Amino acid sequence: MEPDDDAVDVDAPLAVDGPAAPHDASGEQVATRDLSGLAPPTRPARRWTPRRVVVTPAALDHAHGRRIVDRIEGLGIAVERLRANRLVGLRGETDRQTYARAKSTLAIVVSPPSRRTLQPIAPSADWRVDLAEGCPAHCQYCYLAGSLSGPPVTRVYADLDDILAGLADYAGRGTVTSRRAARADEGTTFEASCYTDPLALEHLTGSWRRAVEHFGAWDAPVQLRWTTKYADVATFVGLPSHGRTRVRFSVNAAPISERLEGGTATVPQRLDALRTLALDGYPVGLTIAPIMPAPGWREHYGALLDRVGVAVAGVDRLDLTAELITHRFTPGSKEVLLGWYPQTRLEMDEQSRRRKFGRFGAMKYVYPPEVMAELRTWFERELAARVPAARVLYWT
Ligand code: SF4
Repeated sequence: MEPDDDAVDVDAPLAVDGPAAPHDASGEQVATRDLSGLAPPTRPARRWTPRRVVVTPAALDHAHGRRIVDRIEGLGIAVERLRANRLVGLRGETDRQTYARAKSTLAIVVSPPSRRTLQPIAPSADWRVDLAEGCPAHCQYCYLAGSLSGPPVTRVYADLDDILAGLADYAGRGTVTSRRAARADEGTTFEASCYTDPLALEHLTGSWRRAVEHFGAWDAPVQLRWTTKYADVATFVGLPSHGRTRVRFSVNAAPISERLEGGTATVPQRLDALRTLALDGYPVGLTIAPIMPAPGWREHYGALLDRVGVAVAGVDRLDLTAELITHRFTPGSKEVLLGWYPQTRLEMDEQSRRRKFGRFGAMKYVYPPEVMAELRTWFERELAARVPAARVLYWT
């Protein structure tokens, strides 16, 4: 999930402030790189089995921490009890070793106190709530790069019950989606996938299932939401969610997903999972991200939307949203990603981008206005034509 502060309301007029982007002889944007020559297709997801699992003493003081340990040991995975509340032994001799070690480690910890004060998370939700931090997948554009400090170890929070109990203070105090008339029906929204991928970890923690049950029992205008590139939804079917959890599936054009999203479920698997939850009465959604105008993008994204249309066909009372997010990077995220994936051919060319400054002065590289306008026009038109049930929440 990508925090962002420059989203465009879908009702806002298109800003087309330049000539059409230059095209090469094939009719494609020249500012993008051909993804077909990337490394071999990535391996699709299996349920993640961490190589090393550690638990801190503080985490064992929490009932959910002990539940996670029991669950993981029940899967036949050893859990190492740490003597202190510090994670050690993650650094290797090289950045690559550190990355590999951290990415295969799961730590059961107590959430940092700063995480207990919720922050707005525009444009997705009123509040960001973290049940974990880190992700075992290997997306070469990963949103976490540059956002999290230190080796990318996955931390899951043992103090889940306290985290969920603390949400009541925020109900009715939304500052993002609650302010928009078009989204008022969602109530106060809580985004639970900013720094992780929930379905990558659910089989090890049970945390998001408990969160769904918490919101299902919370008889108020509130909604839990998360987005995922995984498809392991069986344990959510039949839960008393009462429409108060929206699960969105992050999808992309086939060449991008197949080449850049290592260790995730395939897009067809994600869409099958979307259908499963929609049939079970969950509000669902598409996070189409990161949108890239790579060669053949109209054809590939068109095929994706057609596949979505098939996935939602015949679902009664379908509640389907779409969030449209173009690719962007920062100097910091580029540096981290090139450290993690030195062979990547993901386009991160500052010269072909526009600099955009956020509310607090942070700078990111986005596509130039003419490219953004072309993409946005195409997506809004084709979504309406191919998946008319989809309600676009924002474009950014
Ligand atoms: Fe990063 Fe991919 Fe995991 Fe999302 S699914 S957090 S982009 S590695």
